[in-house]
Amino acid sequence: MTHFKNYIGGTWQSGAEELPNINPSDTSDVVGQIAMGDGAALEAAVAAAKAAAPGWAHSTPQQRFDILDAVGSEILARKAELGALLSREEGKTLPEGIGEVGRAGQLFKFFAGETLRISGDVLASVRPGISVEVTREPLGVVGLITPWNFPMAIPAWKIAPALAYGNAVVFKPSEVAPGCAWALADMLDRAGLPAGVFNMVIGKGSSVGEAMVHHPDIAGISFTGSIATGKRIAAGCVARQARVQLEMGGKNPMIVLDDADLTTAVNCSANGAFFSTGQRCTASSRLIVTEGIHDRFVRALEENMKALKVDHALKEGTQIGPVIDERQLQKNLFYLGVAREEGAVVRGGEILKRDSDGYFMAPALFTETRNDMRINREEIFGPTASVIRVKNYEEALAVANDTEFGLSSGICTTSLKYARHFQRHAQAGMVMVNLPTAGVDYHVPFGGRKGSSYGTREQGKYAAEFYTIVKTAYVAG
Ligand code: NAD
Repeated sequence: MTHFKNYIGGTWQSGAEELPNINPSDTSDVVGQIAMGDGAALEAAVAAAKAAAPGWAHSTPQQRFDILDAVGSEILARKAELGALLSREEGKTLPEGIGEVGRAGQLFKFFAGETLRISGDVLASVRPGISVEVTREPLGVVGLITPWNFPMAIPAWKIAPALAYGNAVVFKPSEVAPGCAWALADMLDRAGLPAGVFNMVIGKGSSVGEAMVHHPDIAGISFTGSIATGKRIAAGCVARQARVQLEMGGKNPMIVLDDADLTTAVNCSANGAFFSTGQRCTASSRLIVTEGIHDRFVRALEENMKALKVDHALKEGTQIGPVIDERQLQKNLFYLGVAREEGAVVRGGEILKRDSDGYFMAPALFTETRNDMRINREEIFGPTASVIRVKNYEEALAVANDTEFGLSSGICTTSLKYARHFQRHAQAGMVMVNLPTAGVDYHVPFGGRKGSSYGTREQGKYAAEFYTIVKTAYVAG
């Protein structure tokens, strides 16, 4: 049995208590025992990071490059094995799990390269005989808090830039799926990172997470998770003037216009709504369809949806894995009830029996819905999508933007005019044309607007905005 321990000051440590990490495809399968950290573990991790921070801040780019590059290489070399661990603990299909691990490897490689490109500005002063230099310095100790739904990629896209720009790290993965985080910590340890530069405390948000937010020695928190948690974290950080970056939920629109290629529109919608069991912040949960194509689109999407194979995440041919746990399954079923009460037509959504005892649910499609229904306002985070019928592009755009969220948005059309107009007027951080709302590159910024995000962007060279602080130096002579 693997013990997913905490990693503090370069040593592996047991938790105050142990909890089982359960496979959502087969609840009799215990992936490992989770060492649940507490306030004392967090204190020790922050102290270790604080002690190690100055040394790491002044390490050479080459030192940082070598370590991040080595971790990236190991992740890529072990893609199949780590992908299986990810699918076993989180429930996305094996190809999706391997894909996510590959992404994590590429992220480490990308930020290894960024260590060599940290730059600043040299300007002439407005005063004679003075030069002005603008440089970037690490923040110091940063706190990273991540969710369960991308247990490898999200930790990677926070840890790699944090280290690349010279910060010491205290990392709290989700206690729901911490096996991949543990594997990452193991690789960082063996890659030769000095003790204390990277620390991991697995634990509950209400104890370890809260303590991180309020800790005076943590200079900034980068958080990905739900809106409710994000708002709490922002309030705590702002109160003590700590830097904060939040990536949260979505209610992402996918517009389908009359002139869309039907196959493209159905594939983008099915992928965006149901793949990864709909447990993606970028999932297409509102399908906004103009009336000329509406009935054909619904018929084709329903056919596509019914053919999707829902089963054990590690079984060959599975297209949709299980829901993460009983709580999320009950939440999905609750929203199916809400959809019926609100007058939507509900297709699919049945609880499924498979060979193993897991949280299997058929994808669900809600039709005849309005944008003001709860199912179209609140994030469900399951394999569900609503269809909203609209008259034309103008109404589609207005409905797409009528939401408190603004992470990703998509349009399926063969019209350049509408595609370009949507690109400019969608109130979202990311726009997809004839592509699913989910699925992004690793070298460009990721993030949203309105209620979905707060603070600077993650990934690509834009990550430097969060993980560094600017200094302006004036030198005479
Ligand atoms: P969550 O908010 O419940 O938990 C996220 C993390 O915050 C966990 O590590 C948790 O332990 C911790 N936490 C909980 N309470 C805390 C507190 N009071 N103080 C500090 N930390 C606390 O979210 P989840 O259920 O793990 O993840 C699903 C959510 O994440 C969805 O809303 C989804 O949209 C969002 N998400 C967003 C993105 C994005 O980039 N926008 C990506 C993936 C997931």
